[in-house]
Amino acid sequence: MPTVTRREFLKVGAAGAGALAASGLGFDVALAESNRVKQKLRIEGAKELHSICPYCAVGCSLVAYTRTNSDGTTQLLQIEGDPDSPVNEGRLCPKGATAMQLAVSPRRVESPMYRPAGATAWQKISWDDMLDKIANNIKASRDATFVATDGNGNTVNRTEGIAFAGGAAFSSEEGYFATKLMRGLGLVHLEQQARV
Ligand code: SF4
Repeated sequence: MPTVTRREFLKVGAAGAGALAASGLGFDVALAESNRVKQKLRIEGAKELHSICPYCAVGCSLVAYTRTNSDGTTQLLQIEGDPDSPVNEGRLCPKGATAMQLAVSPRRVESPMYRPAGATAWQKISWDDMLDKIANNIKASRDATFVATDGNGNTVNRTEGIAFAGGAAFSSEEGYFATKLMRGLGLVHLEQQARV
């Protein structure tokens, strides 16, 4: 009788259990093949475009598949990780894997939303109005909290009532620019999402 090592026994056992579980759940070869064919049909003949995930500074590469419809509109079919990218080798984190929702989700917020103090509902406002509102609020907070000298009479010229948090998708240049701007306003509380 041939002898079976413990390692071989465990290997055979694991394979058998896997096969049983697969057939129990109905994942047979035919289903896998039909899924493969369906996937092929979905992006068959599609135009392949390369892009970068917008969410964080890892910068994973994406492939977007689009099709031009008979009425001339472009339809986005699929977004997935780019297997040729040395950064992510086709993989995406759960956030990046939902990148397609940025384009197609009916729940996507497409304009600035404002909820006045005391109101219960959000309202759409224009980008110009939103930027004016932010600028006015920054000026008001800065004027109200600016500290010219500390308790010992030292000149400090700092704005203590505003904090700034940068996004992880900042490039080095954007981070440099944001830091210069905020320090220029006298902010001392700067943070960066990648460190939070
Ligand atoms: S959010 Fe995820 S998929 Fe996107 S760049 Fe960062 S790690 Fe990559």
